[in-house]
Amino acid sequence: MLILTCPYCGIDADETDLAPGGEAHVTRHGADASDDDFEAYLFHKRNPRGVHFERWRHVYGCGKWFHAARDTMTLEVFGTYPAQTLVPPKTLQTKIKKKRPDWKGFKK
Ligand SMILES: [Zn+2]
Repeated sequence: MLILTCPYCGIDADETDLAPGGEAHVTRHGADASDDDFEAYLFHKRNPRGVHFERWRHVYGCGKWFHAARDTMTLEVFGTYPAQTLVPPKTLQTKIKKKRPDWKGFKK
């Protein structure tokens, strides 16, 4: 079972308390965006085998959105952080790199 710590209320919530929101750090383009940018926003999502950054909502708790870094193969959770963060915190990236030396790093 997937258990994520909500960065707002500090509760260890299992997946029945959470709602998935897809990939984190996806760039949203404005109304003047090109068709290619809009297509990429809608359809071109990463689905890596390994380290992945995702959006989750603590739906049966505080109700807030947050980001989580986890391994999609092992379900190991590296950490969670507020959704208003534009890039994963450096401390979290360092932690991931120590555990997964072959990880190429965060790319937007
Ligand atoms: Zn919460």
